[in-house]
Amino acid sequence: MTMHEYSIIQALVDSVGAAVVKTGADCADGAEVRHIRIEIGDLAGVDIGLLTTAYEVFRFGTICAHATLEITPVRAQWACPRCDGIIARDSVLQCPVCRVPATLTRGDEIVLARVELAVPGPDEADTTGRAAAVSAEKPDSIPVTASGRI
Ligand SMILES: [Zn+2]
Repeated sequence: MTMHEYSIIQALVDSVGAAVVKTGADCADGAEVRHIRIEIGDLAGVDIGLLTTAYEVFRFGTICAHATLEITPVRAQWACPRCDGIIARDSVLQCPVCRVPATLTRGDEIVLARVELAVPGPDEADTTGRAAAVSAEKPDSIPVTASGRI
C-alpha cells in the first residue's frame, strides 16, 4: 500500500461526508453510511486491489467505518474533439473523418457514484432504524491530487 491509495481513501471519505451533508442526514443523529460505490477508470492509475486493502484499513474511525465498498471499473473511451465521434478503443487514436487526434472522454477518473445511508426512524424503540438508500444527486468526482482530475 502506498500514500497514493491512502490519499485516495482520504478524499473518498471526504466526498462521502459531503454527499451525506447534501442529503440532509446527520451522522450525529444516528445516520450511518452502509454502502458506497465508486467508479474507477482503467487509466486512473489506481490498483483496485490495493485500494480495497487501503479502504479496509483506513475506514475505521471515519464516516465510512460501517460501509461496504463496491468498485465498478470503467473502460477508457476516446472521442473526436471536432465531431464527437467515438473512437474505437483499440484503433488508432485519431478521428478517421476529421483526421485530428482523439481526446480521452472517460477512463481516467474516480467518481463517487452512490452512497447508501441508514437513517434512524422516528420510533426510537426501533433500534434497527429505517434503511434508506440515498443516491448522490449527481455523481461527484473525488478530488485527489495524485492523478490530476480524479
Ligand atoms: Zn471527427
